Amino acid sequence: MKKYIGLEEMSNVNCSSVLNVIRNCGTVSRKQISDITGLSWGGMTKIVNKLFDHGYIVEEKDESVSGAGRTPGLIRICEKKNVVIGLDLNREGFEAYVMNLCGDVLKEYSKDIYYEGKEELLQFILEFTGEIVQEFKEKNILSIGIAMQGVLDIEKGVSVKFPHCPDWNHVPIKAILEQKFGIDVFVEHDPNCMLYSRLMDEESENMLLFRLDRSIGMAASVNGEILRGNGLMEVAHCIVVPDGKSCRCGKKGCIEAYLAPGLEGGRLNEQALQELLDPLVVLIYNMVRVFHSDTVILTGKLIKYRTALEKELIERFYQYCEKSEVAVRLVEETELAVQGAALIAVQGAIDRLQI
Ligand SMILES: [Zn+2]
Repeated sequence: MKKYIGLEEMSNVNCSSVLNVIRNCGTVSRKQISDITGLSWGGMTKIVNKLFDHGYIVEEKDESVSGAGRTPGLIRICEKKNVVIGLDLNREGFEAYVMNLCGDVLKEYSKDIYYEGKEELLQFILEFTGEIVQEFKEKNILSIGIAMQGVLDIEKGVSVKFPHCPDWNHVPIKAILEQKFGIDVFVEHDPNCMLYSRLMDEESENMLLFRLDRSIGMAASVNGEILRGNGLMEVAHCIVVPDGKSCRCGKKGCIEAYLAPGLEGGRLNEQALQELLDPLVVLIYNMVRVFHSDTVILTGKLIKYRTALEKELIERFYQYCEKSEVAVRLVEETELAVQGAALIAVQGAIDRLQI
């Protein structure tokens, strides 16, 4: 680890923290920035001017104040020049958002994909991203956030496995895209992206998110931070019914063994759904206890059939705890992952600001 931090780095750190304050506040005065960051007036002014010069912020003049003289206005993030790209690369298709630093979505993209192997899939990813980069070449694209399915090594930005792509093995997706486009890339598990997107919207900082389709993905936040680590949060093969249904992993009673038949052939199987409810509720409740969560978000393909399961699932869950302890919400997954990926790209761009 570096022991010393250079002046230039310090200035970048300060630029990031000022921009974060402006982003979190919406609109803010210079005095407030100085108070919140603890920067001196001179130091703050220097940074604010730098951010103006690079098109990160704008000043809103207070039109209601008449008379001569310069009235320092409120500062907010500039929505025009700087943008990020959020990608959701999943087995059914690709989604993308181009988002400005205010969080406004400027354009949405969606593409069905068919791939037989690694080369084809990689080609799809590069073409899809390339088209977006080309279309927004007039803007300053700061970063790309990617929500990915399968096994990931987040630290290295390596996609270890991708669903239904047998020869996809340890693909350095971050390095490939950074080299091709010259833009910072952040890779993240798709449930983490979904949770990140909800963290921006919900009051809670201690949340659990479950993505339910033929398997299960989980993400957890504690005090507003998403818990990360290779191999963590893998709940698909948690045993929820001793000696229960046989699972593809060779064991019996895993939650996945109960989930998989629920959406067999892309349709809801009512019988399987009934058998799923108790094991699922047990898993959710246990995880709530482990992570001390106060909010549970359920999303994924299964939630498309919410009318078939919401009432019973909620009723069974509250056999174990009080409604006031834990809120359970079913949220349609549409765009959660791509939105989260774009928001992660925004945060990454601000944290890595170099001007
Ligand atoms: Zn299993």
